[in-house]
Amino acid sequence: MAGDGILQPGAVALVTGASAGIGAATARALAARGARVVCASRNKARLDQLVAGLGAGAHAIELDVADSAATESLIERLPEGLRAIDILVANAGHDLGGRRRFDEGSVSDWAGIIETNVTGLIRTCHAVVPGMLARGRGHVVTLGSIAGLTTYPGGSIYNASKFAVRAFTEVLRKDYGGTDLRVTEILPGLTRTEFAASRHHGDSTKGTAYYDSFPEILEPDDIARAIVYALDQPPRVTIAQMVVVPTHES
Ligand code: NAP
Repeated sequence: MAGDGILQPGAVALVTGASAGIGAATARALAARGARVVCASRNKARLDQLVAGLGAGAHAIELDVADSAATESLIERLPEGLRAIDILVANAGHDLGGRRRFDEGSVSDWAGIIETNVTGLIRTCHAVVPGMLARGRGHVVTLGSIAGLTTYPGGSIYNASKFAVRAFTEVLRKDYGGTDLRVTEILPGLTRTEFAASRHHGDSTKGTAYYDSFPEILEPDDIARAIVYALDQPPRVTIAQMVVVPTHES
């Protein structure tokens, strides 16, 4: 069912980090609503698999948001009919090598988290927002985290990255307050994805054990629903931030 917002059949949506977890669930949810979804991440084979189930309008494109040339040229690398992006879900992110005391992590892992979660997200927005402004139409959704609201031991760099996403998104909304561009930050709590495994360089046993140590966690579809809700609002309404956490979290 179509809402009053920008998520109408035929709308073009770009989802970064679409090959897994929240991004994949979001791509499916947007495609189910008739959007033509551009699915971007580093793993093209996984994107091709995803896109095969999303209908004729969907498109897979290889994108490492840590690669500035690739991100800057993203729009011109898309088929012409998919360049006018209506919806950006800037979701790509990781905590590779994280969740450890600051001195015990490597500087290259720490820098990699900032490069993807912060600089990569900024690059992605910079590639897409000018077109939205020129067309007078667009909705940017960033994936922050509750790790951008409060800190925890071992979170030095991931917390810093998500605090940065929160500040950046808030200013983006203020910068474009006089335009029709809408900006939303979604701040999920713990969600069962590949995120915890990627923190341990892809060790899925450690990832599963981490999630299983909590009484209740969210599923990627729960976050995709929140994103769809934000996109479904009528033009006068901006969902500025949405914090989504498991009900039985202590
Ligand atoms: P996930 O299952 O590990 O998925 C992460 C996605 O990001 C993958 O599709 C990965 O694809 C992509 N990615 C990573 N680095 C990239 C890069 N340099 N360039 C392009 N794509 C890249 O994790 P997730 O939980 O869905 O995470 C999605 C977002 O939600 C992240 O921003 C994360 O910080 C945030 N979040 C997650 C949770 C949680 O509990 N899971 C909670 C709050 C916020 P490729 O490997 O194919 O590039």
